[in-house]
Amino acid sequence: MIISMKLGASKEEIDHVCQRILEFGYKVHSIQGDERVVIAAVGVGDVTHCLESLHSYDAVESAVRISAPYKFVSKQYKAERTRIQIGKGSIGGEEFFVVAGPCSVETEEQIMTTAQAVARCGAHALRGGAFKPRTSPYDFQGLEEEGLKLLRKAGDATGLAVITEVMTVTNVGLVAEYTDVMQIGARNVQNFPLLKELGKIGRPVLLKRGLSTTIKELLLSAEYVVTHGNPNVILCERGIRTFETETRNTLDIQAVPVLNELTHLPVLLDPAHSSGKRSIIPALSRAAVAVGADGLMVEVHPKPEAAWSDGAQSLTFAEFDKLMRALEPYLELWNQSRVVTAAASR
Ligand code: PEP
Ligand code: MN
Repeated sequence: MIISMKLGASKEEIDHVCQRILEFGYKVHSIQGDERVVIAAVGVGDVTHCLESLHSYDAVESAVRISAPYKFVSKQYKAERTRIQIGKGSIGGEEFFVVAGPCSVETEEQIMTTAQAVARCGAHALRGGAFKPRTSPYDFQGLEEEGLKLLRKAGDATGLAVITEVMTVTNVGLVAEYTDVMQIGARNVQNFPLLKELGKIGRPVLLKRGLSTTIKELLLSAEYVVTHGNPNVILCERGIRTFETETRNTLDIQAVPVLNELTHLPVLLDPAHSSGKRSIIPALSRAAVAVGADGLMVEVHPKPEAAWSDGAQSLTFAEFDKLMRALEPYLELWNQSRVVTAAASR
């Protein structure tokens, strides 16, 4: 059940409602939203009787039953899409949000020229890893704090918001000093202590789906962040592992409309890690627009053949420019469909 307290409900009234929910055998999670306190009651109890009792409290605005295991991220809890402000742009609203940049921050020149190129082409945010989750311990692991500084500098110089990955609880504070959005990579999607920690910081989180994470598991991971206090979570479909070997992963394109049915959180699509293959990124990007993703995250490098990580899936500046221009007619249709959907949900 989700219980929304009325605006201005006092602490005593909230405690009283929580106490009543506990008496019915539920566990209580409450979050302080922008405007009001919302309480999630989870567990097994007499739902009908509990709802009846809660409806009788003056301080309770609404109490509804939510059958999904994730509560706060579900469409049942909130029908309108969550719109998250990132730098000068926003995701989840009426603009298609494009994140672009190299897999890893390598040098000042590399990140600065990339930032300038992607900003010129219309990207909204700059990506770049400073802490890299690499399968082999012998591969480049990232420039760490030096990389964070360079990324921030490039973001500031171009007016782009920046996105970078945080891999450990210990580094949350450090990464948060430099970035606008905290990325949780595929390999950490079920790192529950990290998810809880990111719940406590006031910075949007980009949560990537794991290599073998189901949609329900992804939503439960998002629920961890939200229920620990941070409602600004962006989901990212980045391909899952299947028996197919022609591509690095298999893009689960249907995850986008499925997520759009189940959650109000914005969904980004990452065609680079989905495919591992530069040549098919334009086709996958068009598909992302067509299925209603809220945006794209692509890898761009000044010289992909010399990249320290993920060169084969990185676009050159010219390829990124071409992609952005090729998306324009598709984005017109996307804009129209957003206006229609927004009107329908009013
Ligand atoms: C990345 O975005 O560079 C990355 C490592 O992605 P993923 O966690 O999806 O593999
Ligand atoms: Mn990468």
